[in-house]
Amino acid sequence: MIYDVVIIGAGPAGLAAGLYASRARLNTLIIEKEGEGGQIASTDEVANYPGSIQDASGPSLVARMVEQVDEFGAKRVIDEIKSVELDGKIKVLKGANEEYQAKTVIIATGAVPRPIGCPGEKDLTGRGVSYCATCDAAFFEDLEVYVVGGGDTAVEEGMYLTKFARKVTVVHRRDQLRAAKSIQEKAFKNEKMAFMWDSVVTELKGDGLLESIVVKNVKTGEEKEIFADEEDGTFGVFVFIGLDPATGLFTGLVDMENGYIKTDENMRTNIPGVFAAGDNRVKSLRQVVTATADGAIAADQAEKYISETFEA
Ligand code: NAP
Repeated sequence: MIYDVVIIGAGPAGLAAGLYASRARLNTLIIEKEGEGGQIASTDEVANYPGSIQDASGPSLVARMVEQVDEFGAKRVIDEIKSVELDGKIKVLKGANEEYQAKTVIIATGAVPRPIGCPGEKDLTGRGVSYCATCDAAFFEDLEVYVVGGGDTAVEEGMYLTKFARKVTVVHRRDQLRAAKSIQEKAFKNEKMAFMWDSVVTELKGDGLLESIVVKNVKTGEEKEIFADEEDGTFGVFVFIGLDPATGLFTGLVDMENGYIKTDENMRTNIPGVFAAGDNRVKSLRQVVTATADGAIAADQAEKYISETFEA
């Protein structure tokens, strides 16, 4: 079967594209490799999406988006796309489970957490090192937690972690946070939050479980090793130092800039019939509201492309 639109990724961009495409009566498939929602599925609170109800969680917003997409008849599958052929009039996507054919493709693969890249990080991931507070906070009940980063995510997720951990220390490489002022104000008022300025994590150590963190002061060059409290034996490090676009599959096929997909304002890539939407494309503001807008535009353009190319 040849779909009108195949959307890769079911975050806000992909779900919005699915909503608009299926409402336009296009035969629509959304392919997701893990679970719906992308980054907001692991976000405690989404306060800046227009119309968000107070304290609305990421997962509840995702659930409503999925319900809406299902209502309009878009099909959803879980599969991981391994390779793509995008040049022909009919696009071919090879997944781990199945092969898919489509007249148009919307790439809504989003972005993934950036690792620190220091020794010990890989081995200790899931053993004290985490990239998702909503997923792992409960493991750190009454323990100490270090959060790496100084942006909106680091500070917001750090505050969320104070609901579980006895103390949360934000380790930031400068002496000023990047996070929005309103978020900073809340964090500075939170008695469980502490800040370690001008510092970077250079190594994570532990035998099967995180036991110590090596932190370097970037101004003085001084390095110190922070050990978990003896009674606790372990603690947590949550890394929130930004995101990398999830575009590796399209390298060399679709035009990119620093790993982000280049589109025009109508979400068209350099390949006819292939669109990109959301955090994986070159843009100035990566938020749920801009992702959903991208998805809507991409679906609308896919419909126009199909009628010009296949129905003329
Ligand atoms: P971000 O804004 O890019 O911030 C990344 C932080 O990590 C910065 O403070 C940066 O330091 C630091 N950093 C980067 N590379 C590092 C490294 N190698 N070692 C140590 N520190 C490093 O990323 P984000 O906080 O994940 O946010 C991503 C986007 O989502 C942003 O546009 C953000 O506004 C948005 N967001 C919005 C909300 C909200 O509005 N409520 C919530 C979450 C995310 P420097 O400051 O020194 O560069």
